[in-house]
Amino acid sequence: MSTWQGKRVTVAGLGVSGIPAARVLHARGAEVTVVNDGDDERSRAQAAELTAEGITVRLGDGATLPEGTELIVTTPGWQPDKPLFAAAERAGIEVWGDVELAWRLRGPDSAPWLAVTGTNGKTTTVRMLASILEAAGLRTAAVGNIGVSLLDAVLGDETYDVLAVELSSYQLHWSPSLRAHSAAVLNLAPDHLDWHGSMEAYAADKGRIYEGNRVACVYNVADPATEDLVREADVEEGCRAIGFTLGTPGPSQLGVVEGLLVDRAFVPDRQKQAQELAEVADVRPPAPHNVANALAAAALARAFGVEATAVRDGLRSFRPDPHRIELVSEVAEVTYIDDSKATNPHAAEASLAAYESIVWIAGGLAKGASFDDLVRGAAGRLRGVVLIGKERHLIREALGRHAPEVPVVDLERTDTGAMSAAVREAARLAAPGDTVLMAPACASMDMFVNYNKRGEAFADAVHALAAEGAGPA
Ligand code: ADP
Repeated sequence: MSTWQGKRVTVAGLGVSGIPAARVLHARGAEVTVVNDGDDERSRAQAAELTAEGITVRLGDGATLPEGTELIVTTPGWQPDKPLFAAAERAGIEVWGDVELAWRLRGPDSAPWLAVTGTNGKTTTVRMLASILEAAGLRTAAVGNIGVSLLDAVLGDETYDVLAVELSSYQLHWSPSLRAHSAAVLNLAPDHLDWHGSMEAYAADKGRIYEGNRVACVYNVADPATEDLVREADVEEGCRAIGFTLGTPGPSQLGVVEGLLVDRAFVPDRQKQAQELAEVADVRPPAPHNVANALAAAALARAFGVEATAVRDGLRSFRPDPHRIELVSEVAEVTYIDDSKATNPHAAEASLAAYESIVWIAGGLAKGASFDDLVRGAAGRLRGVVLIGKERHLIREALGRHAPEVPVVDLERTDTGAMSAAVREAARLAAPGDTVLMAPACASMDMFVNYNKRGEAFADAVHALAAEGAGPA
């Protein structure tokens, strides 16, 4: 009899991770109750489907623990301070996230996990990693927060040699027993603090990714907080701390030397010079933070035993996702870049650092962030700034404090059409050779459905500008 037979499991939340979790557990014989805060049309439709399959769903009450619950499986969106979890703690009931569930349900021969987290760069790094692993001839997939769901990857028909897994801080919070082959924390900056409660709690959740690692804990030399997390982690004997740096690498590090990505960590002969992996020019999009992402991906692949040539081939065949430092067009010798995915100051800082003379389009929802460091660091490279969105005043005030001489156009608009006006203003401010960079440092939901739509609005506006420029005078 399966250990799940008759086990009373409460799934917290419907949606993209709650529904598959409920189905998988039900299929194994568990008595599943899904509890959901919302009771809207969409959840009612989802509930009807599950109920027809024999799963109990309770809508409009996510706070009360169902009688007899032995385990809670939560969707990542649920904040740890919810009353349901307090009730579980009092009753000594374990809480697992969707990642923990996948980890526990995986078969004995299932593929090892190479895991990636960090405030920014996760998706890019995981996709680069999958591309490198594929170039090495391995059966793999980019899974987790992106692409294939982890449950599908571990329970589906497809067989993998290794998985490239993106993990969010929410998922890590609810993954007590997860043990990766190797893992990387790319960087740590304040984000999602409302969910975690504090920076310390956020960092601690990210640090869980290193717990029990077998081969390598990969950290960012430029971000000592990531190395601290390695030091605090309880890992398997023989597991190594591997750093990545944009400078010359020390022993047990990967880094950059004369335009080359090199590895000094996984060279068979320790006396030997660093092993050349790829050229910096092989990394797309070409920005320093992205070279860091490539080095982190390379470190994980090398920890798994991948040859240097596969790193180069994988980076060359990698195609970046849209809205991440994406070149839209060049109009009147001005380059237009869409970095709509820069939804927090740390991400925008990285893309602002990649260009010399910038007209910056910014603003949106700040999520409680501060813009002082960002503006201070970028001030010398700003030709001008165009502000849109609900909380643009926060950026305007930071500009007033740290870059008072930079011209700022505050459009005072939050409608969808504001992007087109912003592009026109930016074009007016820009000189030949400049970059117009839409890296808003804010979330998009005050004006757009999501960051994709914001990026598309920017690209449409740039193409309209180009079409006008190309037309008759
Ligand atoms: P995530 O999955 O963590 O959100 P993405 O790979 O989708 O990360 O990149 C999101 C944004 O973060 C990019 O548009 C870019 O502006 C920025 N970014 C990417 N990599 C880094 C990095 N290593 N450090 C800082 N910012 C980064």
